[in-house]
Amino acid sequence: MKRIFADFHIHLGSTSEGKPVKISASKNLTLSNVLHTAFQHKGIQMVGIIDCHVPAVIRELEEAVEKGEISEHRDGGLIKDRGCLIPGSEIEIYDENCNGPIHVLVFLPYLNCMKHFSSWLGERMTNHHLSSQRFYGSATELQEKTKELGGLFIIAHAFTPFKSLYGRGVVKSMEEVFKPELIDAIELGLSCDTHMAGQLGELEKHTFLSNSDAHSLEKIGREYQAIDMEDLSFKELSLALKGKEGRKIVVNYGLHPQLGKYYRTCCAKCGVLIKEEETLKCAHCEKGRIVKGVSNRIKELSDTASASSPEKRPPYTHHVPLEFIPGLGPRMLEKLRRQFGTDMEVIHSVSDEELREILPNQVVDKIIESRNGTIPLKEGGGGHYGKLN
Ligand SMILES: [Zn+2]
Ligand SMILES: [Zn+2]
Ligand SMILES: [Zn+2]
Repeated sequence: MKRIFADFHIHLGSTSEGKPVKISASKNLTLSNVLHTAFQHKGIQMVGIIDCHVPAVIRELEEAVEKGEISEHRDGGLIKDRGCLIPGSEIEIYDENCNGPIHVLVFLPYLNCMKHFSSWLGERMTNHHLSSQRFYGSATELQEKTKELGGLFIIAHAFTPFKSLYGRGVVKSMEEVFKPELIDAIELGLSCDTHMAGQLGELEKHTFLSNSDAHSLEKIGREYQAIDMEDLSFKELSLALKGKEGRKIVVNYGLHPQLGKYYRTCCAKCGVLIKEEETLKCAHCEKGRIVKGVSNRIKELSDTASASSPEKRPPYTHHVPLEFIPGLGPRMLEKLRRQFGTDMEVIHSVSDEELREILPNQVVDKIIESRNGTIPLKEGGGGHYGKLN
């Protein structure tokens, strides 16, 4: 069995010809840049790119297969160098049951499935050439189509305040919107971890994923997981999500929930912490909208009587991405990668002594503190990241 690192929520900013895909994502987030950064610099072996329903992206992938730069694995997934791309799509659901937008992720094994899915979506979306578009149909219809194509269905960033299943404060149970038996995993999203999500009894049977939702190359691998699998393929991933035949998620890694942008209830404008839940407008700047924190929302939803048991789950390790480490700038990062290969090596394996040979002591101390989970921090909220002190 191999242990690999995987991040299943990465956007594309544009096609190789420069056409926009995800408007809010960085332009240099192209297919080839994503694969190069993830496989060569970050040390991630499996990526889910969730804008693969875009016809121009499918063409790019088909061309790469024709040229022999990418090959299709017979068990699903696309292989480039020593890494594996799982083609996926992020979709916005807004049917009569969900009372507002909810994001989901669909992953499919083969390019021809994605091609079929793309034209099916094209008939049910205003513009399927862009990312995360609204689907005009029911959530369960989308789930059934995914299963018909042999795909995986995942709830995206389940607790974030906008465009999520639980975070918007309208839906209390997944059954109101989805068929739970057709959900393959729940993505925790920013400002949440296994311990927090474990407060919801109805999540007991569901596998948790921790993904970056990267909108820029540097954010790839901000969240990720270690997975045990035999081979890099779609089929192996499906087994791992079910925890079958020894394949499984071994560790979820992610930013401290407190460092995320939505941990505490805060003012969206000035970022001030809101103590009284009932206020609608910020008393500090009198302008900003109040954004309910994930921690507060989970408290409302939690049913400790039937809470699932986080101790039976893979551990969630809080990690600090290298770009968050105070004093570690882009040039130092480049030096580290030249010396040790990938970020995963620096974060997980390189010894203190080796780090001290090329980095200032105070930066190494921060890396060690972040490994041990003892780095002091200021909580984030209202769309503002927390900070390391
Ligand atoms: Zn989303
Ligand atoms: Zn996304
Ligand atoms: Zn304010």
